[in-house]
Amino acid sequence: MALQEMPKVGLGLWKIAKEDCAQTVYDAIVAGYRHLDGACDYGNEKEVGEGIAKAINDGVVSREELWVTSKLWNTFHAPEHVQLAVEKSLEDLGLDYLDLYLIHFPIAQKFVPIETRYPPEWFFDPTADEPKMELAKVPLYQTWHAMEALVEKGLVKHIGVCNYNSALLHDLMTYANVKPFALQIESHPYNTQEKLIATAKNYGLSVTAFSPLGALSYLELDMASANESVLEQAVVKAAAERVNKTPAQVVLRWNIQRGCSIIPKSTKLSRLKENLALFDFALNDSEMDAIAALNADKRFNDPGDFCQAAFNTLHPIYD
Ligand code: NAP
Repeated sequence: MALQEMPKVGLGLWKIAKEDCAQTVYDAIVAGYRHLDGACDYGNEKEVGEGIAKAINDGVVSREELWVTSKLWNTFHAPEHVQLAVEKSLEDLGLDYLDLYLIHFPIAQKFVPIETRYPPEWFFDPTADEPKMELAKVPLYQTWHAMEALVEKGLVKHIGVCNYNSALLHDLMTYANVKPFALQIESHPYNTQEKLIATAKNYGLSVTAFSPLGALSYLELDMASANESVLEQAVVKAAAERVNKTPAQVVLRWNIQRGCSIIPKSTKLSRLKENLALFDFALNDSEMDAIAALNADKRFNDPGDFCQAAFNTLHPIYD
């Protein structure tokens, strides 16, 4: 029987290089991870599948003890492409069902056949003189109904969305026949998203915080600078000293303690273990409040910024 509950801590798989990926996934499972957060767009699902297969073959874990999430890429939003996309992810992962399939962004882009390019990424034609994103006229309700069909066919156990704001969630709840299981959004102490999280919870969704360590993921992309690291904040360091944990563990624990799941990414075994060791201490109310007070509504992952900067296309979704 598949897992009924999504484990509170998962391994984020974005930007794990192919050559490190199978080993990282295997090491994470051996270290106790039971939740993997992947996506077509991360370009490493075959290697994630290799890591899972090795762990299962070695008797470390069974398929049913793992929670595996993947995400529908923007170019597969048209109803006739949704099953194609999940079947490709399942084939690459070597699995016959996903525990959770999420719409990656509320952005429908023109279809790119798998044989043409996979993962398709953001440009419609990267070889064009001036490559751009090209949109498809597919409303989100059509994509959602095609996601529902995947549940009916047993290809996925649960479905959900990423990067939706409250307005899109309200809308989704008016037409969803299969209720969304989860909302995945950027959230860390600089972007607490309290109203959106409360809205999602009122609708009964589970909320997963991505980039829970804030700026750290974006340094290598030149989308953040080291002085934006929340780990350097005095309130985080003081709490870390009191509970005898690292600043990263404090920031991760803060998100769990306010009721979110988290999916921190690391390729380092010591950090994989560190990021899972969050359940033998607690932050007190004043630490929780002081960390929440760092909020600056700061998004590091904003299509309104990166689509313009990296993909030559203005496409804000939050403004
Ligand atoms: P993150 O997990 O918050 O941060 C990852 C960065 O922090 C890496 O540079 C990692 O470096 C470093 N790190 C990890 N643990 C650490 C620790 N204990 N101490 C210090 N540094 C540490 O960021 P993320 O990867 O952006 O987000 C997590 C996951 O969320 C992604 O992998 C992906 O699965 C998902 N996500 C989803 C979306 C979406 O649109 N749905 C968008 C972004 C991310 P090392 O690897 O060198 O340890």
